Amino acid sequence: LLELKDVSKAFGAHKVLDRISFGVSAGEIVGLLGPNGSGKSTALNVISGFLPSDGGEIRLQGDNITNVSAQRITGHGLVRTFQLPSMPHRMTVREVLQAGASGNASLASMLKPFRFDDELDELLESFRLTHVADLPASALSGGQKKLLSVATALRSKPKLLCLDEPTAGVHPNLRSDMVTILKRYRDKGVAILVVEHDMLFIRELCSRCVVLDRGEIIADCAPRELEDNARVVEAYLGKAVEK
Ligand code: ATP
Ligand code: MG
Repeated sequence: LLELKDVSKAFGAHKVLDRISFGVSAGEIVGLLGPNGSGKSTALNVISGFLPSDGGEIRLQGDNITNVSAQRITGHGLVRTFQLPSMPHRMTVREVLQAGASGNASLASMLKPFRFDDELDELLESFRLTHVADLPASALSGGQKKLLSVATALRSKPKLLCLDEPTAGVHPNLRSDMVTILKRYRDKGVAILVVEHDMLFIRELCSRCVVLDRGEIIADCAPRELEDNARVVEAYLGKAVEK
């Protein structure tokens, strides 16, 4: 579904992505891991058209989407959330979900509201947002904004969903609920690329992990194989796997 080939991105002399290549298949959940500053958010920004790449090729369902605008990439079925979601002003939680705005106000107007709203109520309930449904979205807490951005992205009926740290700041009980909800959407055929630091969440959710370090992919394997990869343990897992 998604294919990156030799994709590069530098900020000045700092090569954040140095010819990285990986793919995500339909119905697959892939974790994108790596230390702070390793380029995970930058990779999502380049894939989703929020940043131009410096080289390489990105394809979505066979279409070349390299350096295509974020708006047009949304039209190809790619929806993303942000590490720090910003909520549109003057819209309630329910209205944001209705618009399918994926936590990005400028995209809200592009996406058609759905008329039948069983799914909306279900999403509000699943993400524990029913009691704040009629409050302004900008008034939510940090964790609630994160939950609303994930719920809204799901509602946009993506083919590929890119999530940037969906559980950061979210209560652990809801994290395991999120695993269940995301797997349900995967079973409906949605592919998911998820940036996350919580290894428990990654192990429960993902069938594959891609690990970034200093601009390179240092592993592309099943989550349980990460601990056997010396480079991953040294660069990333570190104390997390010490007994
Ligand atoms: P974290 O886990 O902390 O979210 P990350 O892997 O998502 O980290 P990125 O946000 O992709 O990391 O940043 C990777 C590197 O690129 C960092 O060193 C960052 O300072 C740099 N960077 C990101 N965006 C820009 C920008 N717009 N201008 C200059 N440097 C940038
Ligand atoms: Mg990041």
